[in-house]
Amino acid sequence: MLPRVPVSRLALSAVIGGLCLLLTNRTPAAPLDPAPMPHMAAADLDRALVAEIKARSEIMKNLEYLSDRIGGRLTGSASLERANKWTAEKMKEYGLENVRLEPWEIPYGWERGKASMRLVEPGTGVELTVASAGWSPGTKGKVTGDVVILNARTKDDLQAYKGKLKNAVILRQPPAKVAPVTDLNSYLGGRPTPKKEEPKKEEPKKEELKKEEPKKDAKEAPPFVRYDVKNEQPKEQPKGQPKDQPKEQPKKGGEFGGFGGQFQTELNDFLKAEGAACVVSDSGKPHGLLVTTGGWRGDRAVAEEGIARVYMVHEHYALLWRLASRPKETTRVEVEISNKFVPGPIVVYNTIGEVRGSEKPDEIVVVGAHLDSWELASGTTDNGTGSCVVLETARVVAALAKKGEAPKRTIRFCLFTGEEQGLYGSRKYVEKYKADLPKHSVALVHDTGTGKVLGFGTQGRTNIIPFLEPHLESLKAVDGWKGLDAGRQGGTDHLPFESAGVPGFACRQDADEYRLTHHTQSDTFDKAKEPNLIQGAQVMAVTAMRIANLPELLPRK
Ligand SMILES: [Zn+2]
Repeated sequence: MLPRVPVSRLALSAVIGGLCLLLTNRTPAAPLDPAPMPHMAAADLDRALVAEIKARSEIMKNLEYLSDRIGGRLTGSASLERANKWTAEKMKEYGLENVRLEPWEIPYGWERGKASMRLVEPGTGVELTVASAGWSPGTKGKVTGDVVILNARTKDDLQAYKGKLKNAVILRQPPAKVAPVTDLNSYLGGRPTPKKEEPKKEEPKKEELKKEEPKKDAKEAPPFVRYDVKNEQPKEQPKGQPKDQPKEQPKKGGEFGGFGGQFQTELNDFLKAEGAACVVSDSGKPHGLLVTTGGWRGDRAVAEEGIARVYMVHEHYALLWRLASRPKETTRVEVEISNKFVPGPIVVYNTIGEVRGSEKPDEIVVVGAHLDSWELASGTTDNGTGSCVVLETARVVAALAKKGEAPKRTIRFCLFTGEEQGLYGSRKYVEKYKADLPKHSVALVHDTGTGKVLGFGTQGRTNIIPFLEPHLESLKAVDGWKGLDAGRQGGTDHLPFESAGVPGFACRQDADEYRLTHHTQSDTFDKAKEPNLIQGAQVMAVTAMRIANLPELLPRK
């Protein structure tokens, strides 16, 4: 079940029924009036934004281009740079100002090569479907080795395996408990709705970002049924566990990413010294879905010499586990993995453009999403959808500005990169604009795929709800909108803003197929749902414009 916002509060604050009807039933809009208009009332601005998106959305056209013509957009890749340039051109075409590519650096790049694995004993010849984790090295050519279930939690435990792991293929965790796809609850949410009224204390925000350092590995770690993303309640997380890792997830030894600390390092060193071939992890998703995640860690030369890491489709992982669990028989596979590390540092970019504020141009409302993606598919729902919602929001806000209805504050549209490896692009933004952050009112981020936007979680900022909600009355007429809640969400680019003290809200979205699609080879354009994305852009545009036009910045406390 998805987080839902109680309707009663919305009912309480309902005032403008007539406007809602107008919004709902409005016939397709005329193009924004070319004649100069007197300044519009706020509700009329809302209506104009909503109607323009409905009438002339370019979301699907843009998303198709991004998905099919540019494709997967790994941070540091030529495809991502193409996407940066293309989105900058779009922003210029839409009439944004100060469009620029803001550079930052990653230490080294990575290119996916071949990853194949075949069962040779028992000799059924089954081809095992695998995908390398990002920034994983390859094997030393084609090797054949035993499948070994490595049952070790401490350095001492490893001694039992000494001399036994040459070319071994290592399994460390039992197969994930993957819910059948008919169990919709597992795929659509299942977490309690944060209650708006619930008093919540402020989080120690500085700590938040530190804890979230290895976050992507947490977020993407199998198994699937314990694999949530955006709608976590980090305050409930056990200490030391990354914030968007569900609390019921047993603490792991840092599989694939290094947050198991010292033992993970010891394990990697041991496996390398013993000449193991690779470590395999369960993709943890149903029906042959692969996943990938990972990122740069430490020095390139060291990473290159590390142990290869792959994800395997759940069906095959469970098969290998069953076979390797037989007490006396051997299970052997042939494996070949070839990935390439690209020497760095590599310059990558955030795409940024603005609609300048008419009264307080130095005060900023950020509307953002991440443009980078994984590259097993085309990154449509993670996060082509959010990127194209941001572009559409930019289009309509700029169109209104051209007609004399610029926002009072500057609305800055940001397409971040390096999100998938740990929110790096948005962190760089926050670093770069540190001195300006006191004049940032809010950062709004769209990053949970193609589902409708139900609201925004205000990250425990309960005071913002009564302050802002009366300004969002018009959204009650937008299908699916539930309102604001005090809940906290993890896993995307609003977090660096929050950690720096700027209200940072991620869209609370309907899960739709996101849990199945993202990071998989199934994250493709056919999953995109136009009505939902139009709805998302309507919410973004109205919310951003309203916040930009408030008399004051959003309150910090
Ligand atoms: Zn994402």
